[in-house]
Amino acid sequence: MVSQSTLDEFRELLISARRRERRRLRAANESFWPWIEATDRLSQRRANKFLFYCLLDYQMRSGTAQMNTSRFVKQHDDPADLWATVCSYSTRRWASLAARPETRLHRFAKAHEKVRYVAEVITAEFDGDARQIWQGRSADAVLRILLDTLTMGPQLARMAVLGLLECGHIDGDSLPKADVHVRRVLGRVVRGKEFSTAEVAQADRTIRRAMPEKGWQLDLPLYTLGRRHCLGRDPKCSECPARRLCAYNRMRQ
Ligand code: SF4
Repeated sequence: MVSQSTLDEFRELLISARRRERRRLRAANESFWPWIEATDRLSQRRANKFLFYCLLDYQMRSGTAQMNTSRFVKQHDDPADLWATVCSYSTRRWASLAARPETRLHRFAKAHEKVRYVAEVITAEFDGDARQIWQGRSADAVLRILLDTLTMGPQLARMAVLGLLECGHIDGDSLPKADVHVRRVLGRVVRGKEFSTAEVAQADRTIRRAMPEKGWQLDLPLYTLGRRHCLGRDPKCSECPARRLCAYNRMRQ
């Protein structure tokens, strides 16, 4: 098992990388979290678009999820109550959107259907306003609503909570989204092999050991490391800031 001192060093490296990445994003005027960044007073319109996008960010590129959200709202004149717009479709017409590439929201019909289900719940229970899900609630309480009431998948729900935490719309604790990049970097560093989808609990435990509280802050640097250096097929270990700590890199030499 990886030593606590290695994990501590890795955490410090990630925290510094997070600061640098946030500075870089700010300087470049880029947003990592669509629609909810750099805004103190989040509008209903933006909040709804953000949650809509989160629902689509599953086994599909994040950019595609964002593009499909933008396309849908544009086709409907960017309504404040996006969920009412979704509910205005009959079930049959909604399903027919999934049959055409130019109107399909997701490559999986089930994910397309899920948007409709969530729209009904938000309309009935949150007055068509996603902000009502999180305003005045802790990260943990928001996560429970996303999981239990909206029946979002665990990683998508975590992602939505992460975005809200990162952009300062809620407070509290959470864990990183254990996506492919996060699992790959963590697994390679601590044991020389990525964590599989079946090993999410192990990835979570590793995060808890590295950072018992506010582990969500490691999401951005782990994701960035995974995208820039720790590539799936050909990791750029010689340029990687974590190479001295990494079990995979040691085993490769
Ligand atoms: S040293 Fe290599 S394997 Fe380890 S985290 Fe960096 S890129 Fe990934």
